Amino acid sequence: MATLEIHQFPCLSDNYGVLIHDGGSGLTASIDAPDADAVAAALKATGWKLSHILTTHHHADHTGGNLALKSQTGCSIIGPRGEAARVPGIDKPVGGGDAFAFGGLQVRVIDTPGHTAGHITYWIPDAKTAFVGDTLFAIGCGRVIEGDARMMWASLQKLMALPGETSIYCGHEYTQANAKFALTIEPENADLQKRAREVDHLRAAGKPTLPTSIAIELATNPFLRPHVAAIQKRLGMEGRPEWEIFGEIRERKNRF
Ligand code: ZN
Ligand code: FE
Repeated sequence: MATLEIHQFPCLSDNYGVLIHDGGSGLTASIDAPDADAVAAALKATGWKLSHILTTHHHADHTGGNLALKSQTGCSIIGPRGEAARVPGIDKPVGGGDAFAFGGLQVRVIDTPGHTAGHITYWIPDAKTAFVGDTLFAIGCGRVIEGDARMMWASLQKLMALPGETSIYCGHEYTQANAKFALTIEPENADLQKRAREVDHLRAAGKPTLPTSIAIELATNPFLRPHVAAIQKRLGMEGRPEWEIFGEIRERKNRF
């Protein structure tokens, strides 16, 4: 059975680059391409040869390296069908429900619009791993820029339904600031308190807080917890629809 090797590295100011490598086939994909030089350096460090870029959404801090990497390596760029015109160098547009082979592994595409209108997530069930771009962050979620709260909530619900053990790789290291905000929404959550301390220790040691997992996020991420009575009470929104409560939490984070 194919196994996936994963190399995560910081780049730009607070982005993560991620390389995935299937040893059996020798294929290597960059999940997004924030910065061509940083991705090239990571390829050199791992000794892997780039065959693909898997783009989650069109923002420049996720696609800025596309054209340079494509001309350096001849890699093939897979990206969201819903915003293909805004993804530099795209070869193969994909959308929700699509699946494609990456060496011996199957990659499934999930539509996760809201941050951008065409944002997609790449899920590799056999590797128990998903690459969620700027939809879900550790203890947070992406800004709702091109969609609305109802759309973003529907996208997050799809990720919440993945197996709890699924490793989640995100576009940014925002976890420490997210934890500070989360504690204003659910200060009594003991799992969140504990995790906030762990995050502080990791960051003080210069270590990443990612990947996270669906199970950890379900327990600690207030954006995934609008059903919790204590949160509803704090917001004065008892019994309101979950998407509306999610939207209020997002608004508060925008102002935080
Ligand atoms: Zn973005
Ligand atoms: Fe981003």
